[in-house]
Amino acid sequence: SVPAAITSGISAGARRGLLIKGGAALEAIGSVKTIAFDKTGTLTAGTPRVTDVVPFGAPESDVVRLAAAVEQGSSHPLAKAILAHAQGADLPAVQDAHALPGKAVLATLDGRELAVGSPRYAQERGALSAEIERTAQALEQQGKTVVTLLDGTRVLGLIAIRDEPRPDAREAIAALQALGVRPVMLTGDNARTGQAIAQDLGLEVQAELLPEDKLRVIGVLKARGSVAMVGDGINDAPALAASDVGIAMGGGTDVALETADAALLRHEVSGVTELIGLSRATMTNIK
Ligand code: ADP
Ligand code: MG
Repeated sequence: SVPAAITSGISAGARRGLLIKGGAALEAIGSVKTIAFDKTGTLTAGTPRVTDVVPFGAPESDVVRLAAAVEQGSSHPLAKAILAHAQGADLPAVQDAHALPGKAVLATLDGRELAVGSPRYAQERGALSAEIERTAQALEQQGKTVVTLLDGTRVLGLIAIRDEPRPDAREAIAALQALGVRPVMLTGDNARTGQAIAQDLGLEVQAELLPEDKLRVIGVLKARGSVAMVGDGINDAPALAASDVGIAMGGGTDVALETADAALLRHEVSGVTELIGLSRATMTNIK
C-alpha cells in the first residue's frame, strides 16, 4: 500500500542517517531540478583553520585576541576558527555583541567599537585602503576567506581562514549531475574564494550573497522547477524555508532542523544523492 511504501522508505532513510520528515518530503525530493548548496559548513567541512594573520599597525597577538573577543558568542564556523587560533589567550569580556548576518559581528570593548567582518563590510564602513584590499585579494585567490578586524573605521588586521571541501563533495556533485539534477553553490563569501572552491568541486557558484540574496536566488531558480536547498542553518535558514525541499546538513542548528524537510545526520554531501535515489525508488514502487 502507499502508506506502507512511504513508511518503509522513511525507515530505510533513518537506518542510513537520512532523517526525512514525512511522506510529502520523501515524495518531493526525487523530483527536484536544482539543488542549491550553501558553501560554509555544507560543501566544506565547516571546521576552517586560520592560515595567516596580517596586522596593520597593531601587534599580531592583539589582532587575534581582539577578534576572538568579538567572536566569543558567535556560532559561525569562522568564529570557531578564530577562537581556536586564540586558544590560551586571555580574552577580554566585550559588551553588546551582535551579528550582521552574512557580514560581520560587532561588539564594544572599553568604549571601542570593534567588528570582525568581510572585506566588503570594511569597505562599506570606508575602512579599506588600496594596500589592505590588495593583501586581502591575494589571500582570497588562494581559496582562503579573509575577515577584517575593525576598530571604528580603522582596520587593525586581516585574518585568512581556509575551510577544506568535504572529502566526498566532488564525487557527490558529479553523481547529482548524472541524476539530471543541477547543483549550484550559494555563498556569502567573496567571489574569488567562492570561484576557487566551486572550480575545484565542479559546480556553478553565486557568491557575495547576503541571507536575503540567497532567498531571492532560490526564487529565481524555482522558476525553472522544483528546488532543494542544503544548508546548516547558520545565515541560510530563510533560504532553507523558501525552497521546495529544505535539507539540513548534519543535526545542524535547531533553526535548520525546524525549517528543514530532511536532515543529513552523517554530514556527507552524498546523502543528498541517496535521498533522491530513495525517493525515486519509493515513488516507483507506489506507481
Ligand atoms: P557562507 O554562505 O559561505 O556560509 P555566510 O553567509 O555565513 O557564508 O557569511 C558570509 C561572509 O560574512 C563571511 O565570509 C564573512 O566574511 C562574513 N561573516 C559572517 N559571519 C561572520 C562572523 N561571525 N565573523 C566574521 N565574519 C563573518
Ligand atoms: Mg553557512
